[in-house]
Amino acid sequence: MTQHQPADLPAGREHPQAVTVAVIGAGMSGLVAARELHKRGIDVVVLESAARPGGRVLAETTVLGSRVDLGGQWIGHGHHRFATLAAELGAGAFDMHTPKQPSIVEGDAAIRNQGRDALTVNAILLVWEIVTRLGTPRSWKQRSVRSWLRRVPNRRARRLLEILVSVSTTADLDRYSMHAFLAMVRYQGGLTAMLSTAGGAQEGLLTEATGTLAERLAAELDGKIVFDSAVTALHRDETGVTIHSASGTYRADKVIVTVPAPMAAGIAHHPLLPTHRIRLQDNTYMGSVYKAIAVFDRPFWRERGDAEMIVLTEPGMAVFDTSPPEGPGHLCVLIAGPEARDLDELSPDARRSTILGPLAAHLGSDILEPRGWHEKAWHRDRHVGGGYSALPDIGHEEGYFPTSAEPTGHIHWAGTETAREHAGYIEGAIESGERAAHEIITALAD
Ligand SMILES: Cc1cc2nc3c(=O)[nH]c(=O)nc-3n(C[C@H](O)[C@H](O)[C@H](O)COP(=O)(O)OP(=O)(O)OC[C@H]3O[C@@H](n4cnc5c(N)ncnc54)[C@H](O)[C@@H]3O)c2cc1C
Repeated sequence: MTQHQPADLPAGREHPQAVTVAVIGAGMSGLVAARELHKRGIDVVVLESAARPGGRVLAETTVLGSRVDLGGQWIGHGHHRFATLAAELGAGAFDMHTPKQPSIVEGDAAIRNQGRDALTVNAILLVWEIVTRLGTPRSWKQRSVRSWLRRVPNRRARRLLEILVSVSTTADLDRYSMHAFLAMVRYQGGLTAMLSTAGGAQEGLLTEATGTLAERLAAELDGKIVFDSAVTALHRDETGVTIHSASGTYRADKVIVTVPAPMAAGIAHHPLLPTHRIRLQDNTYMGSVYKAIAVFDRPFWRERGDAEMIVLTEPGMAVFDTSPPEGPGHLCVLIAGPEARDLDELSPDARRSTILGPLAAHLGSDILEPRGWHEKAWHRDRHVGGGYSALPDIGHEEGYFPTSAEPTGHIHWAGTETAREHAGYIEGAIESGERAAHEIITALAD
């Protein structure tokens, strides 16, 4: 267990900058929390360790002038806070271009949707849904998803299930228990909700890209965000919190920490945090995920079929057609877990051909010549630490959604992992930011 001793704390400068509320982290939850407080005239500062806002959301502009998301992007079914915020900030939304079912491919071969492999997978998915409802055996707390899947006799079915679990959660399957996975499935409202485009978590997109929302929120908070300002220590006492950061020392009446628990372990606390918070930090890890978007003049593949597919060949990947209506072609690829980290060893050119090469047989050889290429390995981002979210390590339940948001003195906790609904998603980040801001508004009014 990592114990943060008071001796770790830096001395700080004599006269800290006074502020009513300090928000730690300028991801979606921190930006939303700060906006809520600022709207009510409450003096707020946001301390962000990176040089940009957004955290796990990040947009880039393509060579064709379109915008693509390297981080969080989809508005899921029922993500009404996200949809409302996008509309408020003037972002246009569109529905995903999606087939009824993705194709499943291995090498040059397409696997039949009604074949033996697909039927085995569907039967196992059904068993998981039933177990989720009836209650997961306790012994599955120590049983990794990888070891459970070893019992599936059909190799292709096993491989497809591995990729479905990995890409939907970004977990390392050796480090993720069946109990934790099925708890996640139950919390998210079932596998269909997690895996589907229409009616599920991947329903809609923003034309301007979701990262633009973070940029617009940051612009509204102009002058209130201090970048390159990693918080290293928090001293809390009866009247407030003294914050030590790379940009200096601050004194706040209230603090909102939005940093996910495994990353927040790098912040020293005096006095020590309660045991349940230390356990949460120590027993969770950030998922590993690599995302790429290939950009084309138009989504030419639609002339021969849909691009949405699961690729079984290593690296296993999920491919989506995220092209905006009447815009250029955007082909989005997600690779998760250890297979995402393996890509780090390759040169950028080798990585691109490793990813696009297997798609040529299915989408046409033009796929090998994109006009633009955008990629990001989130597990290598030292500020964010990975994504989509923090995950419980095998044998531990502290990281199950939603994680504890019980305030610790004048410190309030936000971040997507703490959301009551849709934790792990942008919707959850927004919910948590609003909730923490309102806790503080109420406390300050008392
Ligand atoms: C590749 C990828 C794809 C995704 N796809 C989707 C999707 O399609 N739809 C969806 O809804 N969600 C998606 N997600 C998840 C979604 O992006 C996150 O749930 C959400 O952005 C989390 O926001 P947050 O504010 O809670 O945390 P974060 O965005 O992680 O914000 C925390 C901030 O704290 C900062 N920080 C860390 N340590 C410190 C410190 N010591 N001091 C100061 N600042 C610090 C970080 O730099 C970061 O900016 C995806 C995530 C990834 C990575």
